Amino acid sequence: MEDQVFHLREKNISAIGLHSANKLNKKTFLNLFAKQHYKFIYISPEKLLSPFFRKLFQKNPPRFIAVDEAHCFSLWGHNFRPEYRKLPSYFSSIYPTPHLALFTATASSEVVKDIASNFDINKNNIYAGSFFRKNLFLSLKKFHLKSQRFLYICYLVFHKYKNQNGIIYCITRKEVEVLAQAIEKHDFHKQLKLAFFHAGRSQKEKEVIQKKFIDNKIQLLITTNAFGMGIDKSNIRFVIHAQMPSCMEHYVQEIGRAGRDRKQSFCELLIHPTDITVHENLSNNPSALKKITAFSKSKKCHHKKILWFFGEKVSDDSRCNACEYCSPSKDIFISKMNSKNKINSSQTFIKQQKIIFRYQQYPEFFNQYTAIGTGYSQDVLK
Ligand SMILES: [Zn+2]
Repeated sequence: MEDQVFHLREKNISAIGLHSANKLNKKTFLNLFAKQHYKFIYISPEKLLSPFFRKLFQKNPPRFIAVDEAHCFSLWGHNFRPEYRKLPSYFSSIYPTPHLALFTATASSEVVKDIASNFDINKNNIYAGSFFRKNLFLSLKKFHLKSQRFLYICYLVFHKYKNQNGIIYCITRKEVEVLAQAIEKHDFHKQLKLAFFHAGRSQKEKEVIQKKFIDNKIQLLITTNAFGMGIDKSNIRFVIHAQMPSCMEHYVQEIGRAGRDRKQSFCELLIHPTDITVHENLSNNPSALKKITAFSKSKKCHHKKILWFFGEKVSDDSRCNACEYCSPSKDIFISKMNSKNKINSSQTFIKQQKIIFRYQQYPEFFNQYTAIGTGYSQDVLK
């Protein structure tokens, strides 16, 4: 929200963000509001439905309302942000009725149906683009040991994506902090500028981290899904899911933060069997969890699985050339493996071995990381 307000203000368009972290001077606000100073008001559902703003907008109806990240209505409205579900009845209580537009980059056909029926949207007014992002190379790896997964993350951030901007997503705050600490400890040259982000950080800390990340002063951000909404940063080259996300919608939303400048970017989904248990303990939506588990198990083109999930028609025999199953280099690799000149060692493996060798100097951090697993309650989510 603050990021969008900032960009509008840069273009001399008056805007304000109204949310729980913004201490509002009501008198000043009302004064400017009465003068129609604000072209755009950004407001969270919780704030909008508070008695003060509820009355204000009923008396002074806005001409136009946009609901951004509209899939939250279906994904979050039933659980920890119930105000989302109250928006349709509130909007219909405003007269004259404002024009309404809802936007989302990640809505399955079920979510679209849910939004359309609740906000009374005619099907002729629903527009959908393709979910296919050909500049995102998708890959998925399963690990039997958490230690292996951690080493692979080290390989990615210190070697494969060295000097590039990226995000690592974890499920819980605790996991975010431990992973950040462990990566920092393994940064032997102290070159990686990283920070961790989750809903438990202070408002000031969040603002500083967000700004530094956007200004390329922080290279790697380790975060829960609390980070990202409304953030517009074009040069994110990689997104790593250090644990399985809770649902397909979150996964697609989060990988969608990579490569917005349309340059080649990479998305790595790293899975350990206990990720499912962590979600189950957090009481995340079981049917959504089932769907992303099925996604992770199916050995088919990752892009096509995403398109099918969101109801796009795509033939089974086409190749995306942007995932590990369809990559041209996969064929080259297989043909080399079958040729007389077999590959004896892979660079990846050698680099991982080097990291293992170095890790042996810091076993206590490694053990701390691998001990993290299940049992977190709802209050550490986000
Ligand atoms: Zn593919």
